[in-house]
Amino acid sequence: MTNSSSIAVIGAGYVGLIQAVGLAKQEHNVLCIDVSEERVNQLQAGVPPIYEEGLEDLLGEVIEAGRISFSLDIITARDCNTFFIAVGTPTDDKTGNANLSYLYSAIEDVSTIAPNGAVVVVKSTVPIGTCERLQNRLDELVPNKKLAIVSNPEFLREGRAIQDFFHPERVVLGGNNKNAIATIRDIYSAFDEAGVPFVVSDWFSSETIKYAANAFLAMKVTFINEIANLTQTVGGDIETVSKGIGLDSRIGEQFLRVGPGYGGSCFPKDTLALATMARRHGVQQQILEAVIAVNDNRRYMILRRVEDILGQNLRGLRVAVLGIAFKANTDDVRDSSAISIIHTLLDEGMVVKAYDPMAKYENNDHNYTQSTSIEDAMNGADLTLIVTEWEEFKDYDYNSQLQSVQQAKILDLRLSLKPRQLELADWNLNFIGINSDTK
Ligand code: ADP
Repeated sequence: MTNSSSIAVIGAGYVGLIQAVGLAKQEHNVLCIDVSEERVNQLQAGVPPIYEEGLEDLLGEVIEAGRISFSLDIITARDCNTFFIAVGTPTDDKTGNANLSYLYSAIEDVSTIAPNGAVVVVKSTVPIGTCERLQNRLDELVPNKKLAIVSNPEFLREGRAIQDFFHPERVVLGGNNKNAIATIRDIYSAFDEAGVPFVVSDWFSSETIKYAANAFLAMKVTFINEIANLTQTVGGDIETVSKGIGLDSRIGEQFLRVGPGYGGSCFPKDTLALATMARRHGVQQQILEAVIAVNDNRRYMILRRVEDILGQNLRGLRVAVLGIAFKANTDDVRDSSAISIIHTLLDEGMVVKAYDPMAKYENNDHNYTQSTSIEDAMNGADLTLIVTEWEEFKDYDYNSQLQSVQQAKILDLRLSLKPRQLELADWNLNFIGINSDTK
């Protein structure tokens, strides 16, 4: 299959870049536009600005095949007839609403060059009602061009995004223009052929699906974390409890692992945007608001566990924080729970040395440093705190550090070391959600 018509992807961030590279691999001709000169230069040289497994190879392959190009200038997209918009919609700190300024700016750019009848696909996560407003905006800007907005939310998981692109569990398309929807479905014909379900709807339902899916998953994560507080205190082992409930197919095992609380570029932003949006419309989402509050408080639950282990006065004690990324296999630190935990520990006067195989985090607090190895982070530590579920932390020979730590104490927020408890018998090994008195 060779598709000669060109596709433009506007925004070469996480979402846009995977979309662009994925479509190019499916033999579409793709032009990827970004406003960041640094990003475009890097991409032209085959260097992805983010870490995602398999991305660099795939990028190299599609560049080599001549299926993708990168540009700063929207004018270069004038021969494209489909425009995927994948610019960021970050949370506005003051209002909690999604900031749509990048989106509107991208839409205006596209309107200046798009040919008549072009389709503009919104991949960015946007508040419910935005696509309708974008359509009105386009109709106002270029009434004669008959550009059509289609909503097509992404459901990629960071760390598995390439695989998710090629094997989606569903494709959601929303809009009121049948031809425009058919055009996008045609671009996604490989998914149709593979039997992937398509959910075709109006704009509003499509936009809601994205938010509701993330809200539901955030709720699952938060739910199990709250149950973990119970097992921790009253008795029991959260891992067994997760398994016992997750095997019920109505519930499902995924997103039932105890941890430091959800983070990343989607859940915190999308839950907050949905809750704020709902309030504005007078239909407060009480469950979701509770989820957000419980997740925000998670760091204090963890602080309490640290106090259980080290005592009430944490000032001057040293902690090695293993993991900065919000989850393994990514360098993404946006809204990472590791960072909120680091802040909480610094506020207590602790001296924090953090290590992550990929992610970087800078902080001017004189009590904070980022280490370049597990050894360096653990040197002199009173507590080693495992926050991100990197394989490197699961497999590490902690016994080799028994001599260099101040206190042989570990708090494992991911239960990564649970299978190795015997081997780590010289350590005071602590988990969350597991009450050690449990028989
Ligand atoms: P996400 O994680 O949702 O993909 P990012 O913020 O990582 O979001 O990426 C968004 C990208 O979109 C950035 O690279 C940014 O430079 C780019 N961008 C923002 N506004 C525009 C625009 N008007 N035209 C092209 N690219 C844009």
